[in-house]
Amino acid sequence: MARIGFIGLGNMGGGMAANLARAGHAVRAFDLSDAALARAGEAGCAIAASAAAAAEGAEAIVTMLPAGKHVEQVYGDALFGAAAVGTLLIDCSTIDVATARRVADAAGIVGLVAVDAPVSGGIAAANAGTLTFMVGGTDAAFGRAEPILARMGKAVIRAGGNGAGQAAKIANNMLLGATMVATCEAFLLADKLGLDLQTFYDISSKASGQSWSMTSYCPVPGVGPQTPADNGYRGGFAAGLMLKDLKLAVEAASDVNASVPMGANALALYQALQNSGGGGFDFSSIIRLLNGDGVP
Ligand code: NAD
Repeated sequence: MARIGFIGLGNMGGGMAANLARAGHAVRAFDLSDAALARAGEAGCAIAASAAAAAEGAEAIVTMLPAGKHVEQVYGDALFGAAAVGTLLIDCSTIDVATARRVADAAGIVGLVAVDAPVSGGIAAANAGTLTFMVGGTDAAFGRAEPILARMGKAVIRAGGNGAGQAAKIANNMLLGATMVATCEAFLLADKLGLDLQTFYDISSKASGQSWSMTSYCPVPGVGPQTPADNGYRGGFAAGLMLKDLKLAVEAASDVNASVPMGANALALYQALQNSGGGGFDFSSIIRLLNGDGVP
């Protein structure tokens, strides 16, 4: 079992660090929040006094931070000075592709090995150890990261070189945001055309309009499987996080001259949902914005 530093013990990182400790790894954890640190201590992690202290003596260091600027700051200010040469840096945060590549290059210059390993799956999957990891890095780095990530997830997939994990994550989530909006539109249209919505679900979920947004995450309360829609759009994947991922996707698209009109439309709609105070509700609540219903 390995000595692992873990930095960022929030909604996602808390459960992930706990799963590494439960698997028998010696985890030294750090977060700016005392409450998050206390929870990590109860879950079997050793508490470090700083990010640098969490890095000292570690074979691998996992970060689960809000955004690219936090990753760049923790890497530059703490890890690059404190981690031993050859240490593996695994960043599981969702950040922009350019920053992921920049920090990996910078890590290489000081003798460290970096992979980006963002996740699919929310807080429940982080707690249960059933995340899906999309990994960007060399084959050798992936080989070192895979057994560690496997303790926190159900699937660990190499996407390509550094930044490829982030590219896969934001392209996937742009698709998810766009299909959710389209699914909501279809239900609202079916309703206005006089269809029973369960009947429309029964047809479309077996026809060519079917998608994960419809069959696993139906935005209409009482239709399809149990989803956040059945719980007042509470829990699930917050619309504000979808907005973050859509911004990353549309910005990345602009950097490489990719045409993403559906992604840009989804971004505008989730921005409107956020502006109306709905950012904390599940992202399927976009159906209420489209229908002019307001925040749940
Ligand atoms: P969060 O805000 O709950 O947790 C982030 C943690 O990082 C906080 O506890 C904060 O105190 C800590 N932190 C910030 N700066 C720090 C620093 N300099 N040093 C140490 N700790 C620091 O966020 P989250 O929901 O856990 O999300 C983390 C990442 O995972 C984000 O990039 C997010 O986009 C991604 N993600 C989240 C979900 C989700 O459902 N919440 C799903 C998939 C991916």
